[in-house]
Amino acid sequence: MISTALHHRDPWQLLVATVISAQTTDENVNLATPELFRRFPTCAALARADPAEVEAIIFSTGFYRQKTKSIIELSRDLDERFEGIVPETIDELVQLRGVGRKTASVVLAEAFDRPAIAVDTHVRRLSNRLGLSTENDPNRIETDLKAVVPPASWSGLSMRLIQYGRDVCVARNPRCGVCELIELCPYPDKTAPLTGRHAG
Ligand code: SF4
Repeated sequence: MISTALHHRDPWQLLVATVISAQTTDENVNLATPELFRRFPTCAALARADPAEVEAIIFSTGFYRQKTKSIIELSRDLDERFEGIVPETIDELVQLRGVGRKTASVVLAEAFDRPAIAVDTHVRRLSNRLGLSTENDPNRIETDLKAVVPPASWSGLSMRLIQYGRDVCVARNPRCGVCELIELCPYPDKTAPLTGRHAG
């Protein structure tokens, strides 16, 4: 199965890395997290961290103030309410401050091998283009995808759509000429195979 490229050693590290991965590349996150987890090796340690110190470590990942606030708060919630152990249900995960359904789904699928569909910008775009969902809201897209794909394939589908969205069905000028799904895809603005013109 395709899995996340975010380096982590346990569910808590994956939770933190996933929050930091917003609006940046996995490579950028992987450059910052070794120092973060060296300096703050446990959830309890990060829960008591000086925000300025955390900000300096994850500065290069962008939006560092908000991300610092989120990872300290979620660690504090985890420490105080779950004894530092990452819960294994989506309903509990989304109770942690700064953790939405997308982040919770990534952790469920990757850390616990539970069926979950994380709807990020790639999953949303591909679901719309491929006609799997006409919705724009991530929660509704998640519901639509779960209705057409068996649970055993949820996590794999999510990671495959994300990777395909990065490599082939990119946001601007999708590479329809090399796309193996072109015969199935109803997207009206496909790019033509060789000329790059709209094929209609
Ligand atoms: S044919 Fe084009 S728009 Fe459709 S899935 Fe492939 S790359 Fe995306």
